[in-house]
Amino acid sequence: MSDKNKPEELKALEPILDETVVTDSPIANPADQGAWNKTQEAHQLKDGDSATHIGLPPGELQKLQAQGKAEKFEIFDPAKEAKLGPLENITIDGTVSDQFLKQLRAGIKEIPENERRFLEKAGVKIVAKDIVNGHAGSPAIYEPGSKKVVVGMAGFLEGGDSPTETNQTSFKLSTKNSDVAGSFKHEVGHAIFDTLKIEQLQELKAVIAEEKAKVRNDDKEALAHLLEEDDEIFAESYAFIRGRESPRVNALIMNFPRTIALIDDILRTNKDLNPQ
Ligand SMILES: [Zn+2]
Repeated sequence: MSDKNKPEELKALEPILDETVVTDSPIANPADQGAWNKTQEAHQLKDGDSATHIGLPPGELQKLQAQGKAEKFEIFDPAKEAKLGPLENITIDGTVSDQFLKQLRAGIKEIPENERRFLEKAGVKIVAKDIVNGHAGSPAIYEPGSKKVVVGMAGFLEGGDSPTETNQTSFKLSTKNSDVAGSFKHEVGHAIFDTLKIEQLQELKAVIAEEKAKVRNDDKEALAHLLEEDDEIFAESYAFIRGRESPRVNALIMNFPRTIALIDDILRTNKDLNPQ
């Protein structure tokens, strides 16, 4: 390509694109290096700084904004950045992994903010725990007394046969929580059932009873735990509405479509959950 056919922009870049290999440091002696460092001080990051909030001094930013050039800049606001949304303040009990906390936080984000605000006001708290002991070995639990939603990395259950039997067998059962967000959502369902006093809703009670009576035999095993109490049906329906997926959820959808639709309606219209 001859020089006169080159676009102007390319010509301007030529000094930069020069392929000469630089073998020596352009700074010849330590004094020069010191002088260079001094010029860079204004641009150095302090511990805890991020590149986004040292980029431009406020004056420069204002100049650019006056020219209509800075509208795409995000102004870093440390106070705003540190503020947690409702129910995002997790209490940690024991040693838990970052991966586990990440999954739990993802689950929290999937609960709509109005519901989290309601639960926080009602005094519900979230606890991340290494091992949850009890409650049939389930790795997550809702404690109505303390209003704690406790989610464990694992569940643990120890027990034995009735002491009146002669050949006792004891057992220890430990289960890894393979669905952190899903188990969290189920327990949030319990928390809503409790704090919103769902058991008083006669219409829901009636629909659950109707569908319970018609559960397909093939699905009775998968749904056994949920069929024990109405609040279990509610908790798992809630978990499904908030995105939980599992074979048990599939069985629930097959057998409790009207229950799920009514719960969805309650969540969208309840005045305590949706204050105006
Ligand atoms: Zn439950």
